[in-house]
Amino acid sequence: MISFSNGQCGTCSHFGEGIPEEKLVQIRIARKSEEEVIGGCDHPSNSNLHLRVAVVGSCDGYSPVAA
Ligand code: SF4
Repeated sequence: MISFSNGQCGTCSHFGEGIPEEKLVQIRIARKSEEEVIGGCDHPSNSNLHLRVAVVGSCDGYSPVAA
């Protein structure tokens, strides 16, 4: 398992495309995921690129997911 914190993709509102909703909620609550978990990023600057990121990634488009 890998842990992540504020400012990283796992807590970003743009993260998670392709991850089942229930699993995404669990990941966000636990702030941990299996290392192989990769999710799509739907930030407007990235979506056309079909960017896929791990929970520990980050970028300047970060926007915290609503609690
Ligand atoms: S790449 Fe940037 S915008 Fe996309 S999920 Fe990660 S922090 Fe959010």
